[in-house]
Amino acid sequence: MHPVDTLGRPIRDLRISVTDRCNFRCSYCMPKSVFGQGYRFMDRKELLTFEELERVARTFVALGVEKIRLTGGEPLLRRELERLVERLATIDGLDVTLTTNASLLARKARVLRDAGLGRVNVSLDSLDDPTFRSMNDVDFPVERVLEGIAAASSVGLPVKVNAVVKRGVNDAGVVDMARYFRGTGHTLRFIEYMDVGSTNGWRLDDVVPAAEIVERIDAVFPLEPVEASYRGEVAQRYRYRDGAGEIGVISSVTQPFCGDCTRARISAEGKLYTCLFALRGTDLRALLRSGASDEDLRDAVAGVWTRRTDRYSEIRTERTSELPRIEMSYIGG
Ligand code: SAM
Ligand code: SF4
Ligand code: SF4
Repeated sequence: MHPVDTLGRPIRDLRISVTDRCNFRCSYCMPKSVFGQGYRFMDRKELLTFEELERVARTFVALGVEKIRLTGGEPLLRRELERLVERLATIDGLDVTLTTNASLLARKARVLRDAGLGRVNVSLDSLDDPTFRSMNDVDFPVERVLEGIAAASSVGLPVKVNAVVKRGVNDAGVVDMARYFRGTGHTLRFIEYMDVGSTNGWRLDDVVPAAEIVERIDAVFPLEPVEASYRGEVAQRYRYRDGAGEIGVISSVTQPFCGDCTRARISAEGKLYTCLFALRGTDLRALLRSGASDEDLRDAVAGVWTRRTDRYSEIRTERTSELPRIEMSYIGG
């Protein structure tokens, strides 16, 4: 049985946060003022084990999930992540992908590919070294991220590059990024800065609308729209008219796509969330650790999904963005 929610949306993608820790402190995600000394991260025993995660994955695949993205925090900080990839890659019909800041990717690309990883999304917000170092706030150089991308590519992993754009911070470098990645085969995607979490001090004025990003690139490298290839595709795609590849824009703030949102999320401690902006999750870890059968698990997840009403981005206003909500590093973006 493949459940649909109250708005007729099936469940197709699952994002699994494998750790709430990160070695970066991107100001829009884990600002040092909050995630500095004294912040309490999860203990190891609180995290779902790889065995538990495989059970969760199989449950979701039975309910219609076709793609799993491993995320975090920084997923490559989770020890021996390749062993989880290996387990997930044995599940029939499942595409296993990863979102990473690429700080450890050069070292890990080959084992991840060998374990069965299908693709990688690398987050890189600027090619300008001082800007990037200041955005990650741990002085991490652009060069090392580029080495990670090169390593992934050289072992045959397709790479997409994601950049969050914040006005007055890195928007001046949008065209430079397009120039750099054109013709490399790596699709570059720009993400509107979102009001996730309650620690990043989000303001609507900081958002650079996707339409403006497309306009700026189109003025230098002419673009044309590409049709969405499947329901639930979050990026609007454009191709360079000269054949140098594609870019994408993810306009979660200015043109919300809740109507097609087929995504569920699991936090590192095993809570199920049906929206990036949800306040409460369902504790799957408790079920897993209380001896629930596969059927019990499926029923629990299907029950949550069939009651789902989420459409936060469609009803967002400056007021709703002031309401409390969970952090991106916890729920995994
Ligand atoms: N650490 C990994 C990374 O950065 O790729 C994975 C986790 S990170 C939370 C997942 C994605 O969320 C990244 O691409 C990041 O840029 C994005 N992100 C974090 N905070 C965001 C925000 N406020 N608005 C939009 N995207 C955000
Ligand atoms: Fe870490 Fe990714 Fe958040 Fe940056 S966006 S702080 S790399 S989890
Ligand atoms: Fe999906 Fe919630 Fe984002 Fe809408 S706001 S697209 S329902 S995660």
